[in-house]
Amino acid sequence: EAKDNGKNQYSLCTPDMKNEVEKNMKLSNDLYRALERNELSIHYQPQIDLNSKEITGLEALLRWKHPKYGMISPVVFIPLAEKNGLINSIGKWVLKTACRQNKKWQDMGLAHIKMAVNLSGIQFINENIADDIEKILKESKLDPKYLELEITENIAIKETDFVIKVLEKLKKIGVSIAIDDFGTEYSSLSRLKNLPIDRIKIDMEFIQGIKKSPKDQAITGVIINLAKSLGMNVLAEGVETAPQLDFLNQKMCDYVQGYYYYKPMTAEEVEEILKKLKESEKPSITEKVLKP
Ligand code: C2E
Ligand code: MG
Ligand code: MG
Ligand code: MG
Repeated sequence: EAKDNGKNQYSLCTPDMKNEVEKNMKLSNDLYRALERNELSIHYQPQIDLNSKEITGLEALLRWKHPKYGMISPVVFIPLAEKNGLINSIGKWVLKTACRQNKKWQDMGLAHIKMAVNLSGIQFINENIADDIEKILKESKLDPKYLELEITENIAIKETDFVIKVLEKLKKIGVSIAIDDFGTEYSSLSRLKNLPIDRIKIDMEFIQGIKKSPKDQAITGVIINLAKSLGMNVLAEGVETAPQLDFLNQKMCDYVQGYYYYKPMTAEEVEEILKKLKESEKPSITEKVLKP
């Protein structure tokens, strides 16, 4: 039976696959002009401290509004940018824009919080990455302690001397480092302990399984304890429900990010929320502000 399904899927997929390859080639081409045509933008998703219930950070998430196809997921176009060589310039644009935005909110007196920016592995192996980031910080006048770089687990554990050297250079600049999507790749714990990492972000796959799967509960609990034992802080991604939040509170997870609190939003929407929080005089998030 499974074999039949596979067959059907395959035969159904063949014409689609061809379209997809063609579409990706077209998208890859179109991406070259996306920056200059202002088709790229950044959405920001708040990160919440479970102790204080305050917003302590924002993750910058890239968006592409294609003139013909509409919104395209970064899961689709980031790999294209990694292949066609655009990832370095797009990545720099994201860093610049996110740092400037964060500095602007600081200057407006709205918030002094961290901006987290995703780094592609390709950007990371670029020799100039640390210099580029230092330059961007200087130019945007953002204090490095308000920038966090997210690297994926598979970059982080390729513990070549090179990776450690780059991470140490970045730490010296004063930014913090997070491992993104933690738990999905094979991680060597002995390697992890040698890396200058500030934060582990638990992949949402585990968080979303918490309700139904005791195994996902176990894995989430182990990662939280691991992070704490290694002196790192820990954030759970993709938190959507109250039971998930209860579990994470009970396990003393430090931070959460997810639709339960906020979806990624435009800069304007974030600004509104920061203003409201400021006016409410309570720095922490009240249910009222959260769910108006
Ligand atoms: P990520 O860095 O792990 O980002 C988290 C993703 O989870 C985001 O998807 C976010 O919108 C989504 N998310 C957040 N909370 C929830 C939730 O409660 N439920 C569900 N179902 N999803 C949630 P998004 O924005 O589509 O980005 C996907 C991935 O694309 C990111 O995963 C990251 O790996 C990559 N990406 C996004 N922006 C950039 C960028 O500027 N540079 C690079 N190199 N990669 C980026
Ligand atoms: Mg991320
Ligand atoms: Mg992630
Ligand atoms: Mg991811």
